[in-house]
Amino acid sequence: AAVGPDDILAALDPDQREVASSPLGAMCVLAGAGSGKTRAITHRIAYGVASGAYQPQRVLAVTFTARAAAEMRTRLRHLGIAGVQARTFHSAALRQLHYFWPRAVGGAAPEIMPHKAAVVAEAAARVRISTDRAIVRDLAAEIEWAKVSMLTDETYPEVAARVGRDVAGVDLQTMGRLLAQYEATKTGRGVIDFEDVLLLMVAILGESEEIAREVRGQYRHFVVDEYQDVNAVQQRLLDLWVGQRRDVCVVGDPAQTIYSFTGAGPQYLTGFARRYPDARTVHLNRNYRSSPQIVELANTVLRGAGGPARRLVAQSETGPTPTLSAFPDDPAEAVGVAAEIARLIERGTPASEIAVLYRTNAQSEAFEDALADVGIPYLVRGGERFFSRAEVKRAILLLRGAVRSDDPATPLPDAVGDVLSTLGWSPDAPVARGAVREQWESLDALVRLAADLVTTAPGARMRELVADLDERAAAQHAPTVQGVTLASLHAAKGLEWDVVFLAGVAEGLMPIAMAEGAEAVEEERRLLYVGLTRARRELRLSWAAARTPGGRAGRRPSRFLEGATSVLGDGARAARGGLGASSARRERRARTGARRVTCARCGADLDTASDRTRGRCEGCPPSYDEALFDALTAWRQETSAAAKVPA
Ligand code: ATP
Ligand code: MG
Repeated sequence: AAVGPDDILAALDPDQREVASSPLGAMCVLAGAGSGKTRAITHRIAYGVASGAYQPQRVLAVTFTARAAAEMRTRLRHLGIAGVQARTFHSAALRQLHYFWPRAVGGAAPEIMPHKAAVVAEAAARVRISTDRAIVRDLAAEIEWAKVSMLTDETYPEVAARVGRDVAGVDLQTMGRLLAQYEATKTGRGVIDFEDVLLLMVAILGESEEIAREVRGQYRHFVVDEYQDVNAVQQRLLDLWVGQRRDVCVVGDPAQTIYSFTGAGPQYLTGFARRYPDARTVHLNRNYRSSPQIVELANTVLRGAGGPARRLVAQSETGPTPTLSAFPDDPAEAVGVAAEIARLIERGTPASEIAVLYRTNAQSEAFEDALADVGIPYLVRGGERFFSRAEVKRAILLLRGAVRSDDPATPLPDAVGDVLSTLGWSPDAPVARGAVREQWESLDALVRLAADLVTTAPGARMRELVADLDERAAAQHAPTVQGVTLASLHAAKGLEWDVVFLAGVAEGLMPIAMAEGAEAVEEERRLLYVGLTRARRELRLSWAAARTPGGRAGRRPSRFLEGATSVLGDGARAARGGLGASSARRERRARTGARRVTCARCGADLDTASDRTRGRCEGCPPSYDEALFDALTAWRQETSAAAKVPA
C-alpha cells in the first residue's frame, strides 16, 4: 500500500511532526514515557524514505531489544516501508563482525561462549578469589561493567576506586588481575563474550580505515531509541558508524534510565546537544498511552524524587483507578493475580493484552505455576527460560544439523515441522496438560517463528532461521507465544499492554534489598516508573507481606508509593466528605465546645466523632500506615471469602 509523506505526518501531533518532517541533520528527542517517541522516529524513517531523503537500505535504526526491532519493522511495513535495518547494537555489531572478521583478522569469527560463568569461575580461581555461585555472578557483572565502560585491567582499578565500585569485597587490584585472567582464559578457549562483539567491532573500525569507510558507505542515517540507556562502548560504536556526518537522531527519557548498574547512563542523551551543537532538540509533552489516572500515579511516583520538571498530560480516556492489593505471601499473591486475570479473560480481555511485571526473574515461577493451574497460557520475557528448556536446546541442535546436511530453497515452516516432528511436534496441539503440552508449545513457537520469518524474508532458509535463533538466544528474545506476558520490569521497557499487574511492590523488592545508596534507590524508583507507564487502561499493583506461606510477615509496601495513596485505590473515599461539610462542622464544634482536633493531612478542624477517631477529614487522603492497614483489612476479607470457594 502506497502511503504518501503527508499521510505519514498526519498521524502525528505537531511536536512529533517536527521530529518526523526533518529527516536530515542531528536531532534529539527528550520526552517521558508513552509520549510517542518510538512512534515519532518510526514515522521519521518512513517520512525520510517516502519523501526520497533516505534510501531504505542506508538507514540503521537501533533499538534496545530484538523484539523492539521486530516491532519497528512491522510498524514500518504498515507504513509501506521495507528494507530498513532495525537492529539492536549487539545484532548490528555481530553481523558486521561476521562479515568483516575474515578480512580484518582471517578465518571465521569466534563463537560467543555459552558458559560465561564457568570461565569467570576458572579465572577467579587462578587469581585466588574464593567464590560461590553468587560471587561468580557478581564478578561476571563487574567484568561486564568494566568492559562496556571500555576499561582494561590496567585502567580498571583506578576508575573503579574513583566511582566507588564494590564487588563482593574483592579488592580492586585483584579485580583488575581477574579481568586480565578472564580475557586470557577466554582467548585460550578461542571464544568471545557478549561484550566482545561490540569491543571487537570498535577495534576493527578504529584500525581499518577501509572497513570503516565501507560501513559508513552502507549506513548514512541513524536513529537510536531508548538512548538514555546507551553505554560507553555502544556510544563509541555509534560514533564510528556516524563518522563526521550528522544524520543521527536519538530519543530517550532520562527518567527511564534503568541500566546504569550495567554501565549505561543518560549522560550521552543529556550531552547530545553539546556534541552536536547544531542539533535540534524536541520535547514531547503528551502521553498517548495511558489513562489520566495512570499518568497521574506515574507522575506522583516520580515527583517523590524531586522530579519531573515536565509533567506529562494524558490524552487518553478516563479509565479505572489503579489499585493496590495486599496478600499474605508471594504464592497467595500469584494465585490472586491469576484469578483476577482469569476473570478479565472471561470478560473478554485478550490474554495477549495482559502482562504481569515484577522486579526479579525469580518471581516469575510463582506466576507461571498459578497461571498454569488455572489453564491460562503465558510467555516469559527476559528470563533465560525459553532457550534453556531441554526441548528447545534439542530442537535448535537438530535444526542446526539440518543446515549442514541439506539446505533446500524451502517452504521453511514445513521443513522445520519435519525436523521437529522427531521431538514430538505435530500440527495439532495435544489435549494433554503439563509437560507434554509445554514441550509442544515450545516447539510450536519455533515452527511459527519459521512462518514469521518467511513472511518478513521470503526465501529464508534453515540457515537464516538458525541465525535468527542464535541472535534471539543471545538476546533472550523468546518467540511469541499467545498468552499473558510475564516479564521483569527491565524486560518490559518500551512495551505496552491494556492491563498491567505490577507485583511485589514492597520494600526489599522495590527497591530491591541490594540497592544501596541514594543513586541505586533512585534507579529503582525509575524502574517502578517504567513499570507503571506500561499500562494503557488498567493498572493493578500488589504486594505480599511474607515470602512463603506462614513465613514472617515482615514486608511493608514500597516507599515509592508514599504520597500516592490518594491516587491509588478507593477513589470514592476522596470524593465523599469534601469541603462543603466544613462550616456545618465548625458550627457543631462551637455548640459542643469539643477540644480542638485538626486533620493530620490538611490541618482543618475535625469535629465528627469518626473524623476525630480517624485523625483526618474523610475527604483527605489516608496516611501511609492507614492505607497499609486498609490494604491488610481488605486482604483479610478477600482471603476469608476465597477460603469458602470449594477448590
Ligand atoms: P516509551 O517511553 O515507553 O518507550 P514512547 O514515548 O516511545 O514510550 P510510543 O510507544 O511511541 O511512546 O507511543 C505510546 C503509545 O501512544 C503507542 O500506542 C502509540 O501508538 C500511541 N501514540 C503515540 N503518538 C500518538 C498520536 N499522535 N496519536 C495517537 N496515538 C499515539
Ligand atoms: Mg519507546
